[in-house]
Amino acid sequence: MNDCLLCTHASTAPTEVYRDDWWAATVFPALAVPGWYVLRLLRHAEGLAAMTQPEAEALGRALRRLSGAVTVTCRTDVVYATCFGEDNRHLHWLVMARADDIPSEQRRGRLAEQAARLVDPARAQVTAARVRDAVTEAAP
Ligand SMILES: [Zn+2]
Repeated sequence: MNDCLLCTHASTAPTEVYRDDWWAATVFPALAVPGWYVLRLLRHAEGLAAMTQPEAEALGRALRRLSGAVTVTCRTDVVYATCFGEDNRHLHWLVMARADDIPSEQRRGRLAEQAARLVDPARAQVTAARVRDAVTEAAP
């Protein structure tokens, strides 16, 4: 049995905003900030070099479609996508809307550190439904 936190989370019917044959994006409970999603590879793999060519090509499409939907829905010009993969070794990206009211000293690499302060599960669910609709409307 795989004890990966992200693989386990995926089986608990999370709020999904994006899915294709390789990737899915969901609201992750500890990061339930409006406009923040964990985009995870559907199979368990660790590290960027572990991607197959189809997975890598699909990643570009997924990031483009998801960040476009987040940009429109959250009315922000800035969407970050980071891939740490250190605490949870599953290959995943954290896609984060950077709200306009985030102070300059909390932007860029420091934004993820603000998660505990920014978590708002109720608003995150409402925003997720809108992002999911925007992703669907923008489908190629
Ligand atoms: Zn995993």
